[in-house]
Amino acid sequence: MASANQTFVITARSGPAKTPAAERVRDFGEIYADFTVTSGDQQSSRCAQCGVPFCQSGCPLENNIPDWLRLAAEGRHEEAWRQSEATSTLPEICGRICPQDRLCEGSCTLEQSGWETVTIGSVERWLGDMAFENGWVAPIRPRVETGLSVGIVGAGPAGIAAADRLRSAGHAVTIYDRHDRPGGLLTYGIPGFKLEKHVVARRTDRLAEGGVEFRLGVDVGGDLPFAEVRAAHDAVLVATGVYQARRLTAPGCGSDGVVAALDYLIASNRKGFGDAVPAYDEGQLNAAGKRVVVVGGGDTAMDCVRTAVRQGATSVTCLYRRDRENMPGSAREVANAEEEGVVFEWLAAPRAVLGEAGQAAGVRAQRMALAAQGADGRWSVEAVPGGEFDVAADLVIEALGFEPEDMPGLFDEPDLALTDWRTIRTAGHTKATTLEGVFAAGDIVRGASLVVWAVRDGQDAAAEIDAWLASRRKVAA
Ligand code: FAD
Ligand code: SF4
Ligand code: SF4
Repeated sequence: MASANQTFVITARSGPAKTPAAERVRDFGEIYADFTVTSGDQQSSRCAQCGVPFCQSGCPLENNIPDWLRLAAEGRHEEAWRQSEATSTLPEICGRICPQDRLCEGSCTLEQSGWETVTIGSVERWLGDMAFENGWVAPIRPRVETGLSVGIVGAGPAGIAAADRLRSAGHAVTIYDRHDRPGGLLTYGIPGFKLEKHVVARRTDRLAEGGVEFRLGVDVGGDLPFAEVRAAHDAVLVATGVYQARRLTAPGCGSDGVVAALDYLIASNRKGFGDAVPAYDEGQLNAAGKRVVVVGGGDTAMDCVRTAVRQGATSVTCLYRRDRENMPGSAREVANAEEEGVVFEWLAAPRAVLGEAGQAAGVRAQRMALAAQGADGRWSVEAVPGGEFDVAADLVIEALGFEPEDMPGLFDEPDLALTDWRTIRTAGHTKATTLEGVFAAGDIVRGASLVVWAVRDGQDAAAEIDAWLASRRKVAA
């Protein structure tokens, strides 16, 4: 039944159903259900329809949130979904995994005024799932074929978003990826309990059905020179993400049982696909029966602790050097991890990996205190004298963040300019690199960021590439 708008004074905020912790740790299925029509309409109707919607400014895609909330509240679901997909190529994915508390929902006027935010992300996800179930998601059928082609290196969210827009504009699109499945971190980084893999696959399948060619298992710069990709296409988009893991430098960190977060998560995701993963089966990348310590406080660390719980770890402890308020990961995911039995040691930094005969048996940690807040708002930390303590661990997972791989050496393109952080430099606010006809988007430009920013960058890059190709065609004519 359709509801009125602005019902926040009589309707309390209520998220979609969540599987109880004891049940959900038994598998890797998503823990949240979709709204029902009744609950989705009701929650949408809470929106105050602000004249100046701060939720929209808090969303990197500047989604027309009040419009689709109003339409959903009126029961006009297909129109609501069309509003949501007008600005986003992956709305049902962002609705699942955006850290909404730091973006749209954190900016919502209701949240700021004590009424509790509208459940924006869950409504977006619900509308997106409804669109697939009801066949509203149309196949990509360009009105004209331009006869021009674009090569995209990287099939993560930035590459997927760009491919969707470029193919829709009539360009031939080829995506190259070194993995055997598309999706980037959506497929091999983020675990199924946050984002089930069929949700990603239905998006990439739609691209393939619309004529996007996927060349998978191709390492550009390794198997295939970047120069060949440039020669094969009228324009190229680099959307390769950042994959150089930061590693611990503490004594003992080279021990057996100390592993990098992404190796661990990729192994787990591959098992979920039914792939053969010897390092998982033989125990190196499997937490079953082990005491696990995860070092780090971002989304990757949260995914590792919750994966370890599901694999049957006997204990899971997360060490993070700042406090709860200053951790980079989503507050929602920390709460979910705590419900699932993860122990957080806030203000704790690793000093050494303990063990015997080269096998990890624990982590010596140092208690820290917040020291001073920098101009960027981040706190520095300092060691608390006498504050050392040990945590037993058979498996230590390093989730300390990622940096770019060796660019431009990997592509053998010395003229591809980089920033001081070794990400690809783009001109001003554009996506154009220093190489003619080569654009870049996503984490390889921003550094490790968020899916929603990758989508935004991919969409913006597609618009720029389309305009650049059109201008070249005019010159040629
Ligand atoms: P990626 O998703 O990294 O995709 C890049 C693709 O390029 C990959 O498929 C890679 O195989 C391919 N590639 C790289 N080099 C080459 C090459 N030389 N040749 C061919 N192919 C190549 N963000 C959120 O918003 N919410 C979350 O909950 C969240 N959780 C995360 C959990 C984990 C474990 C990690 C690691 C990140 C998480 N993030 C999350 C961040 C988010 O996943 C990234 O910001 C986003 O995926 C970046 O998109 P991208 O397209 O730039 O790169
Ligand atoms: Fe919120 Fe992310 Fe959706 Fe934007 S894309 S409305 S930030 S959930
Ligand atoms: Fe609705 Fe909140 Fe956005 Fe206002 S800020 S329009 S109440 S979602």
